[in-house]
Amino acid sequence: MGYRIGMDVGGTNVVTGLFGADGKLLRKSKTRTVKTSSQELLQQLADLCRELLIVENVSEQRLSTVGIGLPGFINAETGLVTAANLPFNDIPVAERLRQLIGVPVTVENDVRMIVYGESLRGAGQGFSHILGVTLGTGMASAWVTNGHLHGGAGGLAGEIGHIAYPDIPYMCGCGMKGCLETVVSASGIVRQAQDGLSAGWVGLLADRFPAHMREELTSKDVWQAYDDGDAFAGQVFQRTANWLSRVLIPSVALLSPDVIIIGGGVAAAGDVFFGPLRKYVAESLHPLYRERLLVAPPSLGDDSGLYGSAEYAAKRLIS
Ligand SMILES: [Zn+2]
Repeated sequence: MGYRIGMDVGGTNVVTGLFGADGKLLRKSKTRTVKTSSQELLQQLADLCRELLIVENVSEQRLSTVGIGLPGFINAETGLVTAANLPFNDIPVAERLRQLIGVPVTVENDVRMIVYGESLRGAGQGFSHILGVTLGTGMASAWVTNGHLHGGAGGLAGEIGHIAYPDIPYMCGCGMKGCLETVVSASGIVRQAQDGLSAGWVGLLADRFPAHMREELTSKDVWQAYDDGDAFAGQVFQRTANWLSRVLIPSVALLSPDVIIIGGGVAAAGDVFFGPLRKYVAESLHPLYRERLLVAPPSLGDDSGLYGSAEYAAKRLIS
């Protein structure tokens, strides 16, 4: 088994990691994503792989696999990739890239690759049943059991952000009304805070973000205001934890995970978010689940997706 490459291809940046045969991350690079055309982006990905090999003085013959995670939908039957923030619309990315690099390539959804990486090398290490959730711009989840990533019928498993609830009033980017990710995500935190401020909240957040500045508010600002003592900001995280627990509680009862790993911008808020979340989840579950369940943040930081895609390709393509 040779060297592997894992790539995290986002709408803004491409992060590429070169791994040794032992799975150790040797070097990584970060570059702006080329979005002019699918062909040019594919060429960029191939060039980035070659550049890392050259810098680490590894010959191309010693590269065995490339794994890619990207924010999009990958048709499990045809391999065609569609990604709203990338120039991919029904493009056979794995096959095209294989032609450019000369080694087998896998392409999977980025959230799945993050959870897969965490399950093998991060907070899920040592456990068999791992449920992962990311709360970034949107919200999604993935389920890994005994090292197997569960795709479900049509490859649609894990889209928990698009469960609609009648008491959530917002329109979602997917076209539905009341999707969970309109409130439980970094953008959801911002939306809740902006609504609260418009409704007359007073305090640090209101002082820092008068009406003409509210468009610039980020989830980090809400957390900062909480950390500096703003009570309303704390309530935003509690409410978010409560909403998230609605989908986690039945998931735990259905799947019985050892650990739920929750990552992304919202999870970085720490105890103000995890504290209430653990409480809400525990309150509604039978003690048999409660006693063994861990709810934890990721432990590989920004590298989870790189580890995941590199490992996934190596396991799928060489065995
Ligand atoms: Zn939706």
